[in-house]
Amino acid sequence: MNEKIKNELSEIEFILDKIKNQGVAYLQSLEDRPTSSHHHVVMNTKLADQGIGTQKTLEYFNQKFEPLMVASSGPKYWGFVTGGTTPAAIAGDWLTTIYDQNSFKTNPPGDVSAHIELETIQLLLDLFGLPSDYLGGFVTGATLSNFTSLAVARQWLGTEIGVDFAKEGLSQKLNVLSATPHSSALKALSLLGIGSANIIPIKTNQGNRESLDLVDFEKQIIALEGAPFILVSSAGTVNTVDFDDFEEISQLKKKHSFWWHIDAAFGGFAACSKAHQHLTKGWGHADSITIDCHKWLNVPYESAVFFIKETYYALQLETFQNSNAPYLDNKSGQFDFLNALPENSRRLKALPVWFSLMAYGKAGIEQIVDNSIQLAQYFGSLLEGHEAFELLAPIRLNTVCFTLSNPHSEARVFTFLSVLNDTNEVFMSATFYNGKRGIRAAFVNWRTTQKDVDRVYQLMTMVIAGISK
Ligand SMILES: *Cc1c(COP(=O)(O)O)cnc(C)c1O
Repeated sequence: MNEKIKNELSEIEFILDKIKNQGVAYLQSLEDRPTSSHHHVVMNTKLADQGIGTQKTLEYFNQKFEPLMVASSGPKYWGFVTGGTTPAAIAGDWLTTIYDQNSFKTNPPGDVSAHIELETIQLLLDLFGLPSDYLGGFVTGATLSNFTSLAVARQWLGTEIGVDFAKEGLSQKLNVLSATPHSSALKALSLLGIGSANIIPIKTNQGNRESLDLVDFEKQIIALEGAPFILVSSAGTVNTVDFDDFEEISQLKKKHSFWWHIDAAFGGFAACSKAHQHLTKGWGHADSITIDCHKWLNVPYESAVFFIKETYYALQLETFQNSNAPYLDNKSGQFDFLNALPENSRRLKALPVWFSLMAYGKAGIEQIVDNSIQLAQYFGSLLEGHEAFELLAPIRLNTVCFTLSNPHSEARVFTFLSVLNDTNEVFMSATFYNGKRGIRAAFVNWRTTQKDVDRVYQLMTMVIAGISK
């Protein structure tokens, strides 16, 4: 036994206390921590023969990297779609590390981790008001969830035309239709050998919309002359949080043969809000759904789930079968994650989500979601009341997509955003929408309050005055 490690184990209480205290200090000062850091880190490329031990390593980390950690889980980080961390989620995440279970097999003898994961999936289905005839699992993010779902979609399409793509590989072009796919869906298509450039675009609806135009969709279906296809639809596009019409799509699904996938990475949480759940009406008929938990559920990275209708379990197994490993034999025929998703060994990613759901319940999640939506609307109303700003789209949920109107130029938007982000009090991200450079502010962090929005608005008016001089 390594003596150094053995000695450290005897000091584990002391070490974990230090980490706990540092963690508490971080979380309590998160509001004041900078939202970005300009740094030049000298990269260490030589590994010492003798290690310095955990305590010295912590000191070294605190000196070299800790000051550069940004408040991305703080209340005024509105870039991309960036969630924070709730106490319950942190508790579950820490325990995931401590227990270090491998959630890949459900059949005994073995640990209970896969059952925790299965239970968490059922609780999530209930949270979202989705039917219980989905199987699901945890992956690292919505990108991998899209990948997992579309991999099974590919296998389904193969079955329709008499080819087992998982075994035989891809030899022909597949039909994939979408109106406003997220970039990660395109990445999934390139990984799957389908090709990101092979999407058949569907027109978006008129009137500043990103949702798919049903008339054009049906036209495209007819043009395929009965050939099976995959539809990648959106519950919440990143720029304007637009939703495809799921009720209408489910009607079309009765008439035509296609795999229906919904990327609901963050928009799916509309289902938790009484005032907004109509946006997801009908989504329970989709064959597969992607949900991110590290965004609006406010659990730490990396956490997302996929839901795939259980009728396709055989296809899921064909796609992810981990064959030729006698020691992993699954003769029981019982469900396991090993043969149902990309990874083999896996962290118990479900635990932080399970803790969050247990700790806060449906009402707690609903409150987080409604708070974000209200703040987005409030922020939007402030911008609408100022001549320098212009909304690029109506606020449909939790994201404000806007630009500078007075005057508008690409350079001015970039200058404004970089000066604003350099205040280090807030972070927003740049975008491009409807032919214009814009800025996105996405509200998903449970900590954000109206006071934060007021402060950011104040900063924005100061920056506008500064760059207009
Ligand atoms: C964030 C996002 C993704 C990608 O999610 P990751 O968690 O970064 O992998 C996919 N789709 C949508 C709509 C998203 O918002």
